[in-house]
Amino acid sequence: MEDSRKDDGDIAGEIFGTILGTILGTARVLATASHEDELLGEVCGSACDTLGFGAAAIALLDEDDCFRIKARTDRRKKRGCSNAGEFRLPLADLNLLLKIGTKMGDAVWVDGHDRMVGRLADRGSILDREISVESSAWNPRSMLLVPLYRPPHLLFGLLLPEDPSNGEPPSPIVAVLLSTLASFASLSIQLLESRIHGEVQRGILNAQRQRIAQVYRASGAVRRAGQLQAMLQATADAVTEAGGFGRAVIYLRQGEMLELMAISGLDSAEASDLANESPVPLALFSAIMQPQMRISRSYLLDCHRIPRGLEATMAIIGKGNSRSEGLSGEGCLSIPISDHQKLLGVISVGQPEEGRSPDLEQVQALEFFADQAGAAVAQMTYFDELKMLAERDPLTGLFNRRSFWNLVDQVASSASGAGLSLATLYIDIDHFKSINDEFGHEVGDKVISDVAKALSGRLRSQDVIARFGGEEFVVLVAGVDASQATSLAESLRLVVAAVGGAGFAGKLTISVGVAVTEGKSSAYSARILVEELVRRADAALYRAKIFGRNRVEIFR
Ligand code: GH3
Ligand code: MG
Ligand code: MG
Repeated sequence: MEDSRKDDGDIAGEIFGTILGTILGTARVLATASHEDELLGEVCGSACDTLGFGAAAIALLDEDDCFRIKARTDRRKKRGCSNAGEFRLPLADLNLLLKIGTKMGDAVWVDGHDRMVGRLADRGSILDREISVESSAWNPRSMLLVPLYRPPHLLFGLLLPEDPSNGEPPSPIVAVLLSTLASFASLSIQLLESRIHGEVQRGILNAQRQRIAQVYRASGAVRRAGQLQAMLQATADAVTEAGGFGRAVIYLRQGEMLELMAISGLDSAEASDLANESPVPLALFSAIMQPQMRISRSYLLDCHRIPRGLEATMAIIGKGNSRSEGLSGEGCLSIPISDHQKLLGVISVGQPEEGRSPDLEQVQALEFFADQAGAAVAQMTYFDELKMLAERDPLTGLFNRRSFWNLVDQVASSASGAGLSLATLYIDIDHFKSINDEFGHEVGDKVISDVAKALSGRLRSQDVIARFGGEEFVVLVAGVDASQATSLAESLRLVVAAVGGAGFAGKLTISVGVAVTEGKSSAYSARILVEELVRRADAALYRAKIFGRNRVEIFR
């Protein structure tokens, strides 16, 4: 039976957006916190309330290279006496934990059962380590370490969630969300520190806070679809509205090219001219990023130093710059968007207000934006990769069994809404074991992926095909009757017979079992209806095998 528990794929579709929205809400509070305690407490509380941890703590690195607890939240009813103050984790021990732990994006999961954990000197307790959910999966020695970094990549603290309500090790999605929370927390701590140290003028800070709130509002308001684009557009708009520049464009890296993602402050003709120049080779931008042009982590470029190939792009971004010393003529300021020193994109701005060359504070304010964009881009990219891994079979790229069942409701309910019948085809490669035995497993893998390609090439985009197991595939088709489903199965059989390569032509065959809904179904859920159809198609497949293979049988 299929496991009906929620898995990562479900979480991805249903609640990622909601939780991310809540975290972005927290981030708004973080951006305006006035004390470190308040800020750290908010982060711990958010980890508990949005992600279901009983408790959470933040430890910061002291001068003596030791992590010590600075804030903690305990949402559990039974609060034992706390010995949180005693927690002490030397940097050297952390490095060992990072080595033995399992990396999940930025976060690292350390299973308390690992014998190496026991060998570490007693590190004291994060919180009173009374685990409320009986579970051997997350035992009192287990830790989830979510690092807090300062740019460029300096570890300065740890977010330590504890005692998850389900007693289970973290799922990758939870790890991503915690890392997102940690990124926002790190940025807010830096903002707070710079405020405390009075390095940045009050006026700039207020503007900065408004801008941050603006970005969060914009990015929190949109749902996952298009969220990246919306977040970048909000960033570009914030730069022109409050960042002191008339024009801002944002590029994101796609391999060795920079793709134009957001534009602000340009008229529509200029915007389309700029779009025509995109993508821009990354190498051209890298050429700008020379030490002598550097301010803080950004690069100032005047019109005399524009590399060949970038002239048109720079002319648009820098159009209307007044003649000033730092940003003369058609020049621009480029702020790298990066994550852990990996370049993800660039924000380029032109037309500074008052025509003067940007000063350090102004550049740092823009870098704060670029850092947030970088953290968000990195998390979203990682999330998309996870979603892909959770939904797809890595060998064939087809949906896996789990995501097939996730799609069933959608396909079946739209079919029944439109009064359409449903058919399932259960497909199994004949004598596949002998292919493996004769040619080896690698050739076997290649055959499975070639067959998958041939099958999906013959199907329509609205049909669902999944790899159900080893050399077995299931197809779900709406709007076909028994004879149409049978001829579809026949055509699939023929298309596979034509898969050649490695001397298989004519020898590679499949058997197909077909089942079709009869009249109006009495099943009360799409899932139950399709489960029955798959069971019947499997029974028909069994008959096809008995009757000699390389044939189609319909369930009767
Ligand atoms: P039949 O015609 O009755 O289906 O015979 P068969 O040999 O295809 O059936 P069986 O189910 O006994 O064998 C399937 C084989 O597929 C067994 C397994 O080793 C192999 N297999 C399962 N998954 C993979 C895979 O990912 N790659 C490769 N190369 N082989 C796999
Ligand atoms: Mg089989
Ligand atoms: Mg087989």
